[in-house]
Amino acid sequence: MDKREAHEAFFSFLKQGYRITPQRFEILDFALDFDKHFKAEELFVKMQNSGSKVSRATVYNTLELLVQCELLSRRVFEHNITMYESNFQRKQHDHIICEECGKIWEFVEPEIQEIVNKVGEKFNLEPHSYVFNIYAKCKNPENCKEKTSV
Ligand SMILES: [Zn+2]
Ligand SMILES: [Zn+2]
Repeated sequence: MDKREAHEAFFSFLKQGYRITPQRFEILDFALDFDKHFKAEELFVKMQNSGSKVSRATVYNTLELLVQCELLSRRVFEHNITMYESNFQRKQHDHIICEECGKIWEFVEPEIQEIVNKVGEKFNLEPHSYVFNIYAKCKNPENCKEKTSV
């Protein structure tokens, strides 16, 4: 999926009953440009810094629409911090989080998806998403020095 296709997907989604405004597409572009997990507030600040006039409320509700439209995933990490990440050109992956410094790493372990499918079959349900986070602590204190905003 390229950026144009992401726009088309969002456009068809909005047509089903939401207002189609240039601001919403501006937010989509900024969200797709993040190469990591981001908070709604981070996206809002980034947009403001680059001169955008989009309101905070529009950013927050558009991000939720992008989740519904499956262009973004919502991730709830520790302390109920909600972050978003783009599904754009990305594979299914999971996260390991250092509880001390708040850094987040991604990993892909195909067995996790196999377990999800197996459990789905067992209960005769069709899984469409799952949550798998590992909370940990950096073994190397050097890695752990810098506190992130998470
Ligand atoms: Zn991720
Ligand atoms: Zn750490």
